[in-house]
This record gives sequence, C-alpha cells and structure tokens, in this order.
Amino acid sequence: MYKIAKLHFKSYYSDIEKQIDSVNSFLWMLFKNGQIIEGWHVEKYDDIYHVTVCIADDDALDKKYYNEYMLKESENLEMNYEIVCDDPMAEDSCHCKEHSFYILFIFTEESGSPVICGDCGKEIPLIHIPYLFDEMEHHTITNWQIVYESVINLWVDSLSDRFSKRQIINPNSELNKRGLEICTELEKQTGKPCYLFLNNLIGLNELSKNNKELDVCPKCKGKFKIVKNYQIDKVCDQCRLAFRCWD
Ligand SMILES: [Zn+2]
Ligand SMILES: [Zn+2]
Repeated sequence: MYKIAKLHFKSYYSDIEKQIDSVNSFLWMLFKNGQIIEGWHVEKYDDIYHVTVCIADDDALDKKYYNEYMLKESENLEMNYEIVCDDPMAEDSCHCKEHSFYILFIFTEESGSPVICGDCGKEIPLIHIPYLFDEMEHHTITNWQIVYESVINLWVDSLSDRFSKRQIINPNSELNKRGLEICTELEKQTGKPCYLFLNNLIGLNELSKNNKELDVCPKCKGKFKIVKNYQIDKVCDQCRLAFRCWD
C-alpha cells in the first residue's frame, strides 16, 4: 500500500551546501532504489530537513532495502521517519506472493512503479523487483520511466508530433527497444515472462472511433494470445509485447 511519510534528516555536515547536497542525494537514492515515488517536498526548521514523500509499501523505508550507496551516504546524515497515512490518491499495489508474468507498463505519469503484476494487474513496488544489469539500484528502469513519461507528455501536449508518437507506438523505436531490453533482463532475473505494454493509442477522445484495433502483432505480424488482465487484453508471446483493446 502506498503511504505518505514524513522523513526527518539531520546532516553531520556544518556547511549548508553540503547538507543540501547530502539530503538531496539521499532522496534520489531512495527513489532509484524503489523505496519512494518521485516527487517530494522539503522544509527546514532549525537544522532539521523535513521531507514529505510517498513511499512504495508499508515497510519501504526499512534499512534492509538500503543499497551500498545509501549505506555510505548514511554516514553523513541521520534519518528518522513516521508514516502519516495511506496515500489517498494512489491505488493499492500488488500483494501477490508469486507473479505468473510481468508487464512493463507506463500509461500516465501517475505510476509509481512501471512493473505490473500479470495476475492482479497492479503495480509491484520496485523494492520487490531484483536489480537489473548488475546495478546496485534501479537506475536503468527509473531512467527509462522518466524518459517514457516525458515522451508521453510531449505527445499529449502536441498530438501532431510524429517523433513522440513513433517512439510510443512503434515496437522498433529506441524507447520501446530499451523497454524490451529491460523486459528481457527482468525475465532473466525472475524466470517469468515479461511483456512490454505497447501503447497503440493515437487519439485521446472517442477512443473506439479514433483508435485502430490491432488484429496482428505490429512487429512479427503473428497472432495474439488473449490474456485477461486488469491492464491488458492480448499479448504476442514471440515479441513479448502486450496490448489493450479500446472498445
Ligand atoms: Zn499481483
Ligand atoms: Zn509479435
């Protein structure tokens, strides 16, 4: 369950700029490690920095999730926290013990984690996903998520923009190729299939009229397998692509 938490940092540095750098670095480390969701608010009273954040799960701030970077930075600051309440704006995350498959899915900028459970269709906080590409944090996946959200925003703001549309709907675009590399690596780490959600949306109004339904996979032209999931309706097993119907 996503929660709102208040973090309190006391830096061991006396220099204010170093204090700010250290608190800022630690917040980005928490984000890149999947412990908090991007977007936070910092206040300072006396020498304590108070930060309101959304955390990815009930125990997301536990030190057991810290990576080596965070353990090192913890030498420069002390962090206490309290959980304030459930995040009233967020949907609950996945609580399944096992996942039969995963979907890499970004549709709006509101998503906390881009990894979706194939069984319940809900987000799996990144703290419950293994590190990929020999990283010690979720660097590649969070970077890809930020870039994808930027391209989506560009597309929504300028629907005639061919570059952003191609990046989103073409399975061979650089954005989707990177997404498929993440899927391949996640599959290698978990032993479970991982599909990239391919957004085929070309208009935001009157969905069924403005958006073409795909009959075959746009990459291999093969037949779809029908999958009933909260987020998707069909997949191409060969290309590891997932799709949603719009009617
Ligand atoms: Zn689930
Ligand atoms: Zn295919």
